[in-house]
Amino acid sequence: MPETLVTIAYLAAGILFIFSLGGLSAQESARRGNVFGMAGMLIAVLFTAFGPRVESYTVLTGALVVGGAIGALLAARVEMTSMPQLVAILHSFVGAAAVLVGLATALDHSQMLDGVERTIHEVEIVVGIFVGAVTFTGSVIAYGKLQGTIRSKPMLLPGRHAINLGAILACVYLGWMFISVDDPFPSIGPLLACTVIASLIGIHLVMAIGGADMPVVVSMLNSYSGWAAAAAGFMLKNDLLIITGALVGSSGAILSYIMCHAMNRSFLSVILGGFGADEGAAPAGGAAAQPAGAVKSVSADETAELLRDAKSVVVVPGYGMAVAQAQYPLFEVTKILRDQGANVRFAIHPVAGRLPGHMNVLLAEAKVPYDIVLEMEEINDDFPETAVVLVIGANDIVNPGALDDPSSPIYGMPILEVWKAKTCIVMKRGMASGYAGVDNPLFYKDNTRMLFGDAKKMIDAVLTALK
Ligand code: NDP
Repeated sequence: MPETLVTIAYLAAGILFIFSLGGLSAQESARRGNVFGMAGMLIAVLFTAFGPRVESYTVLTGALVVGGAIGALLAARVEMTSMPQLVAILHSFVGAAAVLVGLATALDHSQMLDGVERTIHEVEIVVGIFVGAVTFTGSVIAYGKLQGTIRSKPMLLPGRHAINLGAILACVYLGWMFISVDDPFPSIGPLLACTVIASLIGIHLVMAIGGADMPVVVSMLNSYSGWAAAAAGFMLKNDLLIITGALVGSSGAILSYIMCHAMNRSFLSVILGGFGADEGAAPAGGAAAQPAGAVKSVSADETAELLRDAKSVVVVPGYGMAVAQAQYPLFEVTKILRDQGANVRFAIHPVAGRLPGHMNVLLAEAKVPYDIVLEMEEINDDFPETAVVLVIGANDIVNPGALDDPSSPIYGMPILEVWKAKTCIVMKRGMASGYAGVDNPLFYKDNTRMLFGDAKKMIDAVLTALK
């Protein structure tokens, strides 16, 4: 296949990826966005495979079959609630690939470059290896923290910012050593040393971040993996890899910014690492996690009664709804209440559940209409005029401590102010804390009622009572 045809195909794939990102930015068009993305990727793989650069179909077919089979198996088996871990480990593959491409390019003595061209090529190698190694080990640590195999508590070494800065300067020096040697094929010793140091930076940066802040970290690593892919694209002289890497890198950075905003964190402190690990803050499960009074429980029948009398209802879903898969009977409840004339809406916190858009996906699965699913800032002012709020398996995202308890690890995170409604019913199995490991003063408020039990069983019981 001629090179020009491949270039045209890459351009088409790049445009499809842009349409894909555009589609994924709204719930109504997300499905279409995915189709564009899949079409773009199919074009990219086919035209690369049949392009002029591929020499061995045996290796390519082997890699495609083995990689495709592992990917398909993992994707088919993964629980929705374990998606962040899967995303984190996939980012690590991109980082590892960039490191390997960098080392392989440095060892490839088939092209002879001179002058500025050679310097640029060597800078690409150093940058690709550095970003790739940080992404690789950072993502592996993020995976371990999300999976629970590594303690989510931040590891704070004394002088950690100085350590990071020193390590970055060491990598710059090693990179310069590699580039400045007046030899078309310099030794890869400095590159290997740079790989080791950058890998340690990745470990150290993510180890210093507390569990409650992992969503932003996963999104940042997503961005890093994009830049690592773009660097690999430069090394391999593959335009589509550069375009795709830049799209992933910038969209990941924008998503991180949006999430930082939602969690009231500073973007810069995330990039520098060590964020969310304020020495002054109480550690998760510390003082802020102590119980603070008695709670009032309520039965499913009483909940149905309260809902039947309510003119306006807001449902706040969280991680527990995902675990229980309560979205289907929940939509049945919603339909009954709407048929009775109640204004029922859903309030979505940007970090509800365990991945961005988690709740939107579950509600879309259950066919909840998009127009009654509102973002936090669209609905937060409406709670004082709401008769009943149903909090289903959510905890951190409705924790008033985030607003008024400076010792809380989630202090400063904007939350859904559900206690401002007339009655707030919280559905969960017991008094366990949420992801951030802090107790929730909401449970002890006068107008809060606890409906204890598995969210699906409880919603089923409410549904039966309503019918
Ligand atoms: P939380 O993790 O704060 O709370 C979930 C609650 O659900 C728990 O307290 C648990 O209590 C309850 N629960 C668990 N299983 C069930 C069940 N079967 N039935 C009923 N209740 C159940 O979830 P939120 O959605 O409120 O907050 C999300 C948290 O996750 C935030 O801290 C966020 O930072 C973090 N995070 C978010 C990511 C994202 O991108 N969205 C990614 C990673 C982390 P009990 O055991 O008593 O039932």
